[in-house]
Amino acid sequence: MPAVTVDDLLTLPRVHAPDAAMSTPRPIRSVTTAPRGFEGEGFPVRRAFAGVDLAELDPFIHLDQMGEVEYAPGEPKGTPWHPHRGFETVTYMLDGTLSHTDSHGGGGLITDGDTQWMTAGSGLLHIETPPEEIVVAGGLFHGFQLWVNLPRQAKWTAPRYQDLRAGDVRLLSSHDGGALLRLIAGDLSGHGGPGSTHTPITMVHATVEPGAEVRLPWRSDYNALAYVLAGHGRVGTERRPVETGQLTVFGRGDEVVLAADESQESRAPRLDVLVLGGRPIREPVAWYGPFVMNTKAEVMQAMDDFQAGRLGSIPTLHAGGNVDPTA
Ligand code: MN
Repeated sequence: MPAVTVDDLLTLPRVHAPDAAMSTPRPIRSVTTAPRGFEGEGFPVRRAFAGVDLAELDPFIHLDQMGEVEYAPGEPKGTPWHPHRGFETVTYMLDGTLSHTDSHGGGGLITDGDTQWMTAGSGLLHIETPPEEIVVAGGLFHGFQLWVNLPRQAKWTAPRYQDLRAGDVRLLSSHDGGALLRLIAGDLSGHGGPGSTHTPITMVHATVEPGAEVRLPWRSDYNALAYVLAGHGRVGTERRPVETGQLTVFGRGDEVVLAADESQESRAPRLDVLVLGGRPIREPVAWYGPFVMNTKAEVMQAMDDFQAGRLGSIPTLHAGGNVDPTA
């Protein structure tokens, strides 16, 4: 059962469909299929943004869908200790639990509909790993991690966390009750989500019933992306087919249209889609591994600072782990 659900969508506040005479549905610019890979110590991911120009993604940098995977006992894996600087990570778990610890003494558990927002800012070390009891028991693991870029002046802010519990997410319904809209961050039709970023964004996890269509008013100064976490559907007024692991980049307009196919597979009976948009930062991006800066010199400086221990050190409780600068 993915993330937070409700029994009766009609009890939720509705996001009204835009007036067709006044609104411009965004056309489809591209649909790409995420290649599969492995992250950290070997957990399966889909690289959602692979092959898409950073200018189209701006202010987003990177998106990994983690799983969906059913682990046998002893199989769950995480990452080693590794650094970050210059951006924010947003980790959202649909199923399963991820534990997080960092060099500033922060951390916590992210589970079943929770979101953790980490502003790496000027830099830190952290580790993301399943808790011991999950490693022992195994089980379902499904989530994603999104990287949101920081504008130049915010790359040096102190690291910060926002732990958004599943219950904090703003639950809304589409205009006819055909979709559950979980507003995790930003604004949607006058409603506000709990997460906030330096760069304004809107982030929605939608679960769409078979045959239902969703028409979301979408700020025209934001970009618009839709990534299918599970199921089969259609995007745009073109009704272009999309399925699990596919990213749609929308063009300009002020409305995002998507729909779930009537027929879905039994293991994913609905369409689950992550709809993202933000105000582009439009600055040069120099990105190497865990560092997202404006210039190559700043990336080199980040490497030096990391090697010199200026991004922090592993808390003694967790000493002994190797630090992998490329994770
Ligand atoms: Mn990380």
